[in-house]
Amino acid sequence: MNLLNLEILIPILGCLLYIVIGGIAMWKRGPRPTLLLWLLTYLGISFAWSAIQVVANFEPAILPREQMLQLSTQYGILATSILFLHLSLLIFRPKAKLWLLWLFGILWAGLVMIFSHNLLDLSATFQSTIAGQIEEQELTRTVLLLGWGFLVFTVAWLLANSFQKPIHPIIKNKAYYWTFALFFVVVSDGLYFGDFQSPAIVFRVIAVLLVSGVCIYHHMPEIRRVEREALTYLVSTILTAILLLIGIFILPSFLEKLAGYNPTLAGAVVTLLLAAVLTPIWVLAQRIVNRLLPTTRYDPNRILREYSQNISNILDPNLLATVAIGLVNEALEITHGHLFLVELETEENLTFYRLRSVKGMAEEKPAYGTLGEESPITEFFINERNPLRNSDLDLLPRFQSVPPEERTWLEHLKADLYVPIFTKDEWIGLISLGAKVSGQPYFNSDLTLISTLADQTAVALQNARLVESLMRLNNDFRRAYAAMEQANRHLKQANTQLEILDRTKSDFISIASHELRTPLTVMRGYTEMLMDEHEITQNSYHQKLVDGIHAGTIRLHEIVDSMLDMASIDTHTLELQMESISLFTLIRLVGDHFREDFSQRNLTFEIEDFSELLPIEGDPEALRKVFHHLIVNAIKYTPDGGKIIVAGSSVPPGYYELQEGGIEITIRDTGIGINPEFLESIFTKFYQTGELAFHSTGKTKFKGAGPGLGLAIARGIIQLHRGKIWAESPGYDEVKLPGSTFHVVFPVYREE
Ligand code: ADP
Repeated sequence: MNLLNLEILIPILGCLLYIVIGGIAMWKRGPRPTLLLWLLTYLGISFAWSAIQVVANFEPAILPREQMLQLSTQYGILATSILFLHLSLLIFRPKAKLWLLWLFGILWAGLVMIFSHNLLDLSATFQSTIAGQIEEQELTRTVLLLGWGFLVFTVAWLLANSFQKPIHPIIKNKAYYWTFALFFVVVSDGLYFGDFQSPAIVFRVIAVLLVSGVCIYHHMPEIRRVEREALTYLVSTILTAILLLIGIFILPSFLEKLAGYNPTLAGAVVTLLLAAVLTPIWVLAQRIVNRLLPTTRYDPNRILREYSQNISNILDPNLLATVAIGLVNEALEITHGHLFLVELETEENLTFYRLRSVKGMAEEKPAYGTLGEESPITEFFINERNPLRNSDLDLLPRFQSVPPEERTWLEHLKADLYVPIFTKDEWIGLISLGAKVSGQPYFNSDLTLISTLADQTAVALQNARLVESLMRLNNDFRRAYAAMEQANRHLKQANTQLEILDRTKSDFISIASHELRTPLTVMRGYTEMLMDEHEITQNSYHQKLVDGIHAGTIRLHEIVDSMLDMASIDTHTLELQMESISLFTLIRLVGDHFREDFSQRNLTFEIEDFSELLPIEGDPEALRKVFHHLIVNAIKYTPDGGKIIVAGSSVPPGYYELQEGGIEITIRDTGIGINPEFLESIFTKFYQTGELAFHSTGKTKFKGAGPGLGLAIARGIIQLHRGKIWAESPGYDEVKLPGSTFHVVFPVYREE
């Protein structure tokens, strides 16, 4: 078998090429591992297909050559068209349900197999029903063609869909390449169907090259540039060929007629001539191509309409950048572009504009830059609000004083044009645009269009910026809230600990005072018995001793009682026996109890008559304690010769938060007063103002000692009666004696 036979050579070359492409794919890896895997499968199948075409030509073959070629074509088309759609979906519809495709593929392959190998022995049935008109082979072909048609149509539909939507320019570029690939696939498969094996392989190889390029390289060269360059080469080659032909065939016949003709010299002349015209030919070719494929093909109205439709509702700066730059790209075919958010900032007394780039379609985000408030560039943008060409920046004298760091930053953007974006009175954004793909400069009409687009972008950009700052604020709030929650949790923990401590203390006081009470009662009983003893009453010295013991025991008893009262309030175990009470009578009785103390201390005790006031509902024993403590305090903190006045009045409904009204009692003294700072804290248990050491010992002596529980017990009991207690005093002064007033209010008693 002659290896130089084209029918063998072409598939061999195909196989080699597939191996090379596979190697490149493995080496480059490409952006997505799944895509790479499927591409390798695609290459593998294509390789096997071509390999069978080579093997079919050698003896001894497993099957006859024709049959082998037919089968390879059949399964080759089947597998590659499913894989082609699979790859298309991976690239253009990553979220598509691929299993549906494979389900279709399996069914289709099943049908092809059934008919092609006559698995169900259908031929007889078919021949009898359709009278032998359809042969098995034709049936296989029809099923194959139908399935293939469906898959190819789906790819075409996918591509058409991609072109209609504003998609990422990189994807759009890929779609262009894919369209070419689809074209070559269709032609190649068509040739296979028509049994033109060798040309089919040539087309297939081109298709596979395109498919692999799109899968492997994220950035394919801009297709329109490729198109343009290929066409320029073609045109210039044709022109050069024409000239060459003229040089070779026509010129010698003229030159021969000249005397002293020398073929070598003539050849040299022709070569020189050709070399001289090569560059003009290239330029001419470019011109022709520019005429054939004009670059400014855009319709400004359509672009503007599309731009405003696409951009107005976008709130994500990234998407905004992608769409804005993408649409500019579509109109002007630029190499690259970036969108920047511009913000006025002040740092260390320097005001400048910070330009932060948005990722958008760019592969890499340029670093942020700053432009001084007084930089010539800033002044140009703010005053003129016009696009700025990079060439102007380099040439015009007004930009000579641009600081080098600003220049370096702008240079690293590699832009040809800078377009500022303004709201009514604020500079908020900048679009930087790279060179045009065609290499042409930005024309004035382009600048007008871009300026209008920039104006359109302003509103969307402003909104996007607002949303961004709102999101930032929201995040700050969330963080602050989380910190607050944490602090709250700590506080709650501390509070629980304190509560536990307090309860332990109350429990201790309660237990201790219970334990103290019994021996105290015994001591009190015995001292009282002693006091009545004849021997004691006879001896004044002994009597004085026993009286002292008795007074101490009673005082101790009272203190222990106070501690017990406090503990029962704290532990919510104080039980009240409620009845209707006249406060006037109750207070008079309490006052009577201190008659001796008043005269000893030369104090005037007055109760204004408020006997006609309504009764309240309360526990007489508990309320007695309240007024006992208040009057004891008034006695204690009023120097000898002072005055204590108790008054009562009715409270109208709604006052002091008493819905149905109530009764207010005031106990006023002419004592040392209370520092306003402590008016509230004196109601805390164990709280005492001033130095403890200065307290004298007697209960009703001036500044007499006490455990610091009286007011806390009073408030506890009053609150259980749904009443209130508070103190008023102009201040603390032991010389001027401003006095204090204690107010107590209770709700009135209403008999149901
Ligand atoms: P105690 O009297 O046992 O110290 P209280 O709870 O009765 O405890 O009073 C707490 C503090 O309130 C007292 O130490 C005192 O400083 C202040 N106080 C109470 N009543 C008066 C009053 N009528 N005049 C001046 N200060 C008073």
